[in-house]
Amino acid sequence: MIPAPFDYVRAESVDQAIELLSGNDDAKIIAGGHSLLPLMRLRLARPALLVDISRLADLAYVREDDGQVAIGALTRHHDVANSEALQELAPIVAYAASLIGDPAVRHVGTIGGSCAHADPASDMPTVLLALGAELVVLGPKGTSRRVTAADFFKGLFQPDLASNEVLSEIRVPKTTGRGWSYLKFHRRAQDWAMVGVAALAGNGIGPAVALTNMGERPLRAAGVEEALAGGADPATAAERADEGTSPPSDTFGSAEYRRELSKVLVRRALEEAMSR
Ligand SMILES: Cc1cc2nc3c(=O)[nH]c(=O)nc-3n(C[C@H](O)[C@H](O)[C@H](O)COP(=O)(O)OP(=O)(O)OC[C@H]3O[C@@H](n4cnc5c(N)ncnc54)[C@H](O)[C@@H]3O)c2cc1C
Repeated sequence: MIPAPFDYVRAESVDQAIELLSGNDDAKIIAGGHSLLPLMRLRLARPALLVDISRLADLAYVREDDGQVAIGALTRHHDVANSEALQELAPIVAYAASLIGDPAVRHVGTIGGSCAHADPASDMPTVLLALGAELVVLGPKGTSRRVTAADFFKGLFQPDLASNEVLSEIRVPKTTGRGWSYLKFHRRAQDWAMVGVAALAGNGIGPAVALTNMGERPLRAAGVEEALAGGADPATAAERADEGTSPPSDTFGSAEYRRELSKVLVRRALEEAMSR
């Protein structure tokens, strides 16, 4: 279908984007457009104004900063996947980005768009949740706030973002010395995950496990983490993978199927993370 009519402005700066958003309640940012445009074509989204930030080059970077790795919100999935800094300092992020969609999607879609869209079937939010990442949000009058991934992903397509705020940066801790795994199960290559699992283990820090597409937002597998902290082995702990989840049923699989799948994937992800 053809989208409903809209106005379009290419922002020259983040400040201008915020100003344009502040002046119009029905305005929306467009970055890669790979989630927003399909919604507009289905008329599930009808923004009156699109504020295009896709050419703000100063929002596309990966760099070490203050003991963390800072990723600009406009960094394309392809550049996240191929970042040498991420491959060395937080390899789970680079690897998960390499599994998103197909090359065409990865060359246009952005890490910021993936977070701001807050789709529980997306891969990167789960990884950021497992890592305890922080997201930097800019607002009117120069305001800036940092939000943990646990607070940012509030619900189905509900990020912690006001209509006149811009997500500018994602900050991930270095995972040097920690084992990691991101497993994504899908029926066809390049599909979204039916279920995904991010796991980190080792280096004196308790294991972290998070789940993709097992509820209305990315979820920590709290039962698994509790069992591991109590000394359970990965196979025993993985039996608690679906505790506190509410997986969807759709044409790809029932909720019951996803519950069982999550247990298998959590066990495999823990085994891989612990052996790395
Ligand atoms: C065929 C196909 C396959 C895909 N497969 C996968 C997959 O396997 N795994 C996966 O995780 N994703 C997948 N995606 C989604 C893809 O990763 C998108 O790139 C991503 O979800 C959105 O990024 P974007 O830059 O395109 O955002 P856009 O579509 O431009 O924007 C998405 C939303 O975020 C808002 N937004 C964007 N940037 C910002 C910002 N900086 N600050 C505030 N708000 C912002 C927009 O207003 C909009 O509401 C797929 C998409 C397609 C089309």
